[in-house]
Amino acid sequence: MSELSHKDWIGKAATIRFRDKAFIDGKFVAARSGRTFASINPATGETLAEVASCGEEDIDLAVASARRAFASGAWSRATPGHRKDVLLRLAQLLRENLHELALLESLDMGKLVTDAATVDVPGSAGIFQWYAEAIDKIYDEIAPSGAGDLVLVRREPLGVVGAVVPWNFPLDMATWKCAPALAAGNSVVLKPAEQSPFSALRLAELAMEAGLPAGVLNVVPGLGETAGQALGRHMDVDCLAFTGSTAVGKMFLQYSGQSNMKQVWLETGGKSPNLVFADCGNLDAAADMAAFGIFFNQGEVCSANSRLLVQRSVKDQMVEKLVARAAATQPGDPLDPASKMGAMVDARHTANVMRFVETGKKTARLVAGGEQVTVNGRGSFVQPTIFDNVSPNDSIARDEIFGPVLSVIAFDDEDEAVRIANDSVYGLAASLWTDSLSRAHRIAGRLHAGTVSVNTVDALSPMTPFGGFKQSGFGRDLSLHALDKYTALKTTWIKY
Ligand code: NAP
Ligand code: MG
Repeated sequence: MSELSHKDWIGKAATIRFRDKAFIDGKFVAARSGRTFASINPATGETLAEVASCGEEDIDLAVASARRAFASGAWSRATPGHRKDVLLRLAQLLRENLHELALLESLDMGKLVTDAATVDVPGSAGIFQWYAEAIDKIYDEIAPSGAGDLVLVRREPLGVVGAVVPWNFPLDMATWKCAPALAAGNSVVLKPAEQSPFSALRLAELAMEAGLPAGVLNVVPGLGETAGQALGRHMDVDCLAFTGSTAVGKMFLQYSGQSNMKQVWLETGGKSPNLVFADCGNLDAAADMAAFGIFFNQGEVCSANSRLLVQRSVKDQMVEKLVARAAATQPGDPLDPASKMGAMVDARHTANVMRFVETGKKTARLVAGGEQVTVNGRGSFVQPTIFDNVSPNDSIARDEIFGPVLSVIAFDDEDEAVRIANDSVYGLAASLWTDSLSRAHRIAGRLHAGTVSVNTVDALSPMTPFGGFKQSGFGRDLSLHALDKYTALKTTWIKY
């Protein structure tokens, strides 16, 4: 897909255009207040653009536009077959603009452009395609009422869906909300993270080009406390779908209770355990995937396998393999296809991650990384970092770090492994490695996690639900189950 060289990407980056206005009612508009915020490339520290900083009045305009579009029926009452055609065209347009979208993603939040071009953008196109193809194949129900009554149970779109998403996979997180919400016939007001507004704005423009009516998808860049809060408290938003931190997720529950009791669906943090048993038949594969599970996307992954629980007899062997893999995964220029890891999203987050690393140095044994670095003398980068001999009570074993920092914990038997794994306020994902089929099923059944991957990490697909237990949230993204969040059941009872 992405055979471009470092030079090619630099050339494309020099001429790329950033959409820096809000997208409301089918048009790019400045914030009413005229306010902007700077979007900075974390790999260089350079300002990419000054972006419209939406406030309450802009959110009002966007919600009103979404409501008008919904009421018009142009999308909400269009046939599922028509919605399918438009969303399939959008998937195609995402693929046609692959390089541009991948670059926007990389410049904005620091990820490797190669990953954006091979994972993020194709992933987004695939998900729009998946919901497009699904939506005209789902049947409603007729209840078993008997003669004289005909009882229809139908799914209807909710109306206006607010979506608030984070910066780690900006296009994908926007897509996970928008694709099912739009396929079901809703209008959407999307607030991207302030660190990463550009791909969402381009997505909205491409959706119009694909044939989505004006007002059906609005994008309101801005700060969480202003734009995000206004959306969360809006009296005319029917549903708020959120991905981000657990602390902010809890705020959305309060916003809802203090406003119109809108439905709130949360995908929040994680501290996912990866359990390696001594009967794992391929420790090299386990080490490869354990490294991938924590270093991919700089560890800025909600389901990152940040706790590695290893059975004591193979623990030292495993740590040795991981140290070698960390050494081979050093950060570099995100636009260089040879780089193994990109930049952290911004200086503030980098400082947070480094605070955890410094804490870890006091309580555990640092065996790889542990330093903040620059690339070509600039930017915010963190070395792939591994701590051995971590106690399950240490902060680096309990708190979500959201960076390339792995905590290794030894265990003796199954019960201890499960106890440590489940001793967390989070329950997003878990992985386990064993050649015993019985053990795999036994442990998968006992782990508190929305997804358990066996002999791999972070298994994920449009066809499977994604989401958490406990304080990792509730409701599911992806799969047909995501449509439950964006539709209401209506019973129509007919006597004849
Ligand atoms: P965040 O700070 O919670 O931000 C997420 C979104 O909420 C952003 O758009 C943010 O706006 C907005 N926001 C912040 N404060 C707000 C407030 N007071 N009221 C309303 N909205 C507000 O999370 P992040 O740091 O961007 O992302 C990292 C977190 O996301 C991690 O905890 C990670 O685990 C989680 N995550 C979860 C999943 C999942 O599926 N479970 C997937 C990816 C990431 P600003 O941009 O202005 O801050
Ligand atoms: Mg943030």
